[in-house]
Amino acid sequence: MNAGEDQYVVLLATGGTIASRNSAAAGGATVAEDSGEVLLQSTGYGSIPVKVVDVMRKGSYRLTFPDMLDICSEVKAALSDPLVVGVVVTHGTDTTEETSYLADLLHDDWRPVVFTGAQFAADHPTPDGPDNLRRAIAVATSRDAGGRGALVSFAGQIFHSAGVRKVHTTAHAAFDSPDSIPAGSVTGTGVVSMDSRPARFEPLPAPQTGDGVGFPRTDVVASYPGADAVMIEAALAAGAAGIVLEATGIGNANPVMCTAVAEATAGGAVVVTSTRVHAGPVVPVYGTGGGKDLLAAGAIPSGLLRPGQARILLQLLLALGMTRPLIEQHFHRRGLLVPQDSDALTALTPSKG
Ligand code: ASP
Repeated sequence: MNAGEDQYVVLLATGGTIASRNSAAAGGATVAEDSGEVLLQSTGYGSIPVKVVDVMRKGSYRLTFPDMLDICSEVKAALSDPLVVGVVVTHGTDTTEETSYLADLLHDDWRPVVFTGAQFAADHPTPDGPDNLRRAIAVATSRDAGGRGALVSFAGQIFHSAGVRKVHTTAHAAFDSPDSIPAGSVTGTGVVSMDSRPARFEPLPAPQTGDGVGFPRTDVVASYPGADAVMIEAALAAGAAGIVLEATGIGNANPVMCTAVAEATAGGAVVVTSTRVHAGPVVPVYGTGGGKDLLAAGAIPSGLLRPGQARILLQLLLALGMTRPLIEQHFHRRGLLVPQDSDALTALTPSKG
């Protein structure tokens, strides 16, 4: 903890289990109800002032890409005040990997943005939200946590958002980062230990919203034993400009899907191959409908990005109007999660204070 006088943390509340309770009005379902102020009170936290902004109150399973952009623009708005030392976003765990990655792609500031949430609702006998939030505030207050873009702080572990995944439906430790080292850890008393700071990619601009046209449709289509072309064709018929294939293994599909991918790319859609496997890179190796054939059909390997984050990157690049060669370059670089050599972003430095 090393914040100065007058400095403060901004808490952006968006909903999720951390804000949820069992609701009779919702037919006994668990729904997001608590305001950010209620969440903050539950922590009993008091060492640094926290300003609460209620951005939305939704289960993250129903967020849209524009919702996620709204959250990111609230992050930017919060950081426009130099007295803000960092931002905490309380968010449903289901899609934390998507929103935190989008926030990371757009983040152009040294100060940390820390996502957290809960596995057990606010009215559970032993909710984990208050402890997670207390720790996330400590991370947002830590100078060591700066320069790393968006982070996910959960159950004492801190992850870089690129590559983070929800890996358990019910366990306290809901997240992992199978292809990169964790960013650090934070104790229950708020002692933050960060690992070495990796280089960052240059931030991308936020696409313009509110033009009424909407963003290019970007779908995820799974490959599985016996999968055919129907879902790819359906995505294209619905107007998809981008498709992320949730392929099997190292990034394989089958001959029928490869033909559909070739037709999709010939028609101008951008197809990215990711995988349903937990860890490891997508590598074009196999023929007869495998990854080598997908590459020949025009699909871009996602590297280490899993379908959720690959879809966010593809959606963002399409929304920014990028051409296919540029999209390919971005996946080639950002699919590695951290920059290699000269890719490194060096422009951001800590501000004074
Ligand atoms: N289980 C989820 C959560 O942690 C539900 C959601 O993502 O909103 O909040």
